Amino acid sequence: MSNEHVTELFDEHGNLIGALLNAEAWITVKKHVTKELGCAAPEPEKPEPVADWELLKQYWDFPYPVDMDVTCECCGNQTEDWSADEPRKFRLSSANLAGLVSFTCQTCKAKIVKKHFKDYIKAECSPYQAEKTAGKEGRY
Ligand SMILES: [Zn+2]
Repeated sequence: MSNEHVTELFDEHGNLIGALLNAEAWITVKKHVTKELGCAAPEPEKPEPVADWELLKQYWDFPYPVDMDVTCECCGNQTEDWSADEPRKFRLSSANLAGLVSFTCQTCKAKIVKKHFKDYIKAECSPYQAEKTAGKEGRY
C-alpha cells in the first residue's frame, strides 16, 4: 500500500519495517494510534501464570481429570477449554497447588475461582468491581 498519505518502508529483503505518514494522515490517525499502542494505556495485563498451572497439573492428585472448562455466571461466557481459546475468553489469573485456580472473564471482567476439592469442584463467580472497597457491597 502506498499513496499520497502513507508510504510503507521496506528493508533490502522486502520486509516491512515501518510506514511513513504525511502530516495530514498523521493528524487523522494520531489519536487512534496513540490509543492502540498504549500511550493512553488501558490497565496493563499481567502475563498468565502458566507455570503455576503446569505445576498444578503435574501434581494433580484429585480423583477426576484436569478440568479445562470455565463458565462465567455473571455474563454467560463459557468455554470448554480456556487454554485453547485464542484470543482468550478467560485469562488465567492464578493457580496453586492446593487446587485453587482463578480466571478473569474477558467479557465482563468477573473473577471466576475454581476450587478443587477431593470429591468435587466448586466454581465461584464474583462480578468485577472497579474499586475494591472492603466490606461494601456493590451498587447493583
Ligand atoms: Zn463474564
